[in-house]
Order: sequence, then C-alpha cells, then structure tokens
Amino acid sequence: MESFKHKGKRRKLVELLQEKGIEDERVLNAINQVPRHLFLNSVFEDHAYEDKAFPIAADQTISHPYTVAFQSSLLDLHPGEKVLEIGTGSGYQTAVLVAMGAEVYTIERQKNLVDFSRNMLQKINLEPKYQTYGDGYKGLPSFAPFDKIIVTAGAPSLPTLLVQQLKIGGIAVIPIGEENQKMYTYLRVDERKYEQMEFGAYKFVPMLEKRDDI
Ligand code: SAH
Repeated sequence: MESFKHKGKRRKLVELLQEKGIEDERVLNAINQVPRHLFLNSVFEDHAYEDKAFPIAADQTISHPYTVAFQSSLLDLHPGEKVLEIGTGSGYQTAVLVAMGAEVYTIERQKNLVDFSRNMLQKINLEPKYQTYGDGYKGLPSFAPFDKIIVTAGAPSLPTLLVQQLKIGGIAVIPIGEENQKMYTYLRVDERKYEQMEFGAYKFVPMLEKRDDI
C-alpha cells in the first residue's frame, strides 16, 4: 500500500512545489504525508507524485498537486479551523486539509466518488468531520459559519450562498470562470462586505448545477 519508493517520490514532489513557490510549511508537511497514489486508479500509480492531474471516476479529475498546494496555502489555514470543501472528488484535497489539522466538512455530487473517498479517507485515518452527498451550491447552512471555504470545481460565477456561510474574517478560495477559471479569494470583512483578490489562471472541471435527485 505504501512503500519507501512512494515516500521518496513524495519528498521530491514537495521539493518541486517549493521550487514553484509554495512556502506554507503546513501545506508542505501535509503533501509529504498524504499517499496520493491511493487516490488514483492504480494504472497511474507510477506517476502519482508528478505534478499532473489525472482522471478519476465519473469523468472528474484529481487536481494537480500544485493546485491543491496553492489553494491550501491561500486558505491560510490554522489547526482546528472549520473548513467547508465543495467537490470532494477523490478525497485527496480533503486528506491534505485534514492532515493540516482542519475540521473538514465536505460535499460531493457524484455518489460513487462520495463512496470511494469515504472509504479511502477512513482507511488512511484522515477522516473529515462530516462528509455528504449533495449540492455544493447550497453549502451546509446547518453547520455554518465556517472559518474557511474551498471550492475545487470551476464556478461559472460567485456562489453567493457559499460566501454567506463564512465567518467575519473568514476566507473563501474559489476558481471562477466558464471554460477557464481565475483563482479568487474572498475575505469576509463584515456582514455585507467581501474583499476580492485575483490570482492566476487555472482549468477545473465545472461546478455543476444541482441534480434533480439530490
Ligand atoms: N478536490 C478533488 C478534485 C475533484 S474535481 C480531488 O482532490 O480529487 C471537482 C469535483 O467537484 C468533482 O468530483 C465534481 O463531481 C464535484 N462537483 C462539481 N459540481 C459540484 C457541486 N455543485 N456540488 C458538489 N460537488 C460538485
């Protein structure tokens, strides 16, 4: 399941991410700790620690490690913070956030990915606080407010219901755009005001509207 070979490759990946500008020690430690190869189809196992995205079930994609690291850095996460994640996917980003000491609440709209990620996160002992099958556009009002929110699919426009679930002083990291996305952070300044910052260009799978069955 986990070998010295994997550990060595992970260390190299961490060095690469540092070269690409990731400085947050908590992020780098988490990447060094989470076995990404277990979140991929085994045909990609030898490539799991390259900075590449791969297909996962239901036509979805596990993000590049750099993207995971960059979004995690933008969250400016501190242990014990409550984080809402939209788009559990394989569960890899979830595992990184849990390894960083966050209390993670995560939503996914593809049932088979919910099942896969739940099993894997349990197996490697990096379970989120709460994991559900549902529509990410709604967030989780019953668990709000959150210190941080991370969206791992491309939202066509700002999902307003989500940012309303931030604490004052909280940060949301959301890629926004139809075909391609720009990365944005929203700092909630007060009840009504958000401070927006724009980062680089990215390409995510789309954040899809609610399905009729969920
Ligand atoms: N963080 C994931 C990346 C998954 S790709 C990983 O590390 O593997 C984005 C995920 O967002 C997909 O699994 C997709 O099914 C999910 N998604 C898209 N629209 C959604 C929505 N409205 N609510 C919840 N999840 C959504």
